[in-house]
Amino acid sequence: MNPKPNGKTILVIDDEAELLLTIKEYLESEGYQVFTADNGFAAMEVMKMGMIPNLILLDMKMPIMNGWEFALEFLNKHDHMSPIVVLTAAGDAEQRAKDISAIGWVEKPFNLNSLLNKIKLYERKSNKAAELPEAPSPSI
Ligand SMILES: [Mg+2]
Repeated sequence: MNPKPNGKTILVIDDEAELLLTIKEYLESEGYQVFTADNGFAAMEVMKMGMIPNLILLDMKMPIMNGWEFALEFLNKHDHMSPIVVLTAAGDAEQRAKDISAIGWVEKPFNLNSLLNKIKLYERKSNKAAELPEAPSPSI
């Protein structure tokens, strides 16, 4: 199948190789361009090539550079250029998302269709945020 590209790029960061491939194939079949990395450091390397994704799906527990470390470095280097959605099996998913200023979270295990629905929801959320008027600059 050769889906019509929807012009959106997603970076998926997770150390579970099979899950990474499954998500990639599914989202590609939905028209997304998908980049993958198996830890935060690898993800920073992918973005060094100039790719800034529309959305990042981020696992938290990973070797080399985990989700917390990645989020810190990403926010420092790229500010809030791409919204982050946390992928986690932890019971405190909401807290984990808040910890790193993520736009939301998806609890593992999930089915692919519900993952896609959440991605679409978060896309609408971040589009809305982008439409908000900028705060007035302080007068001197
Ligand atoms: Mg993991």
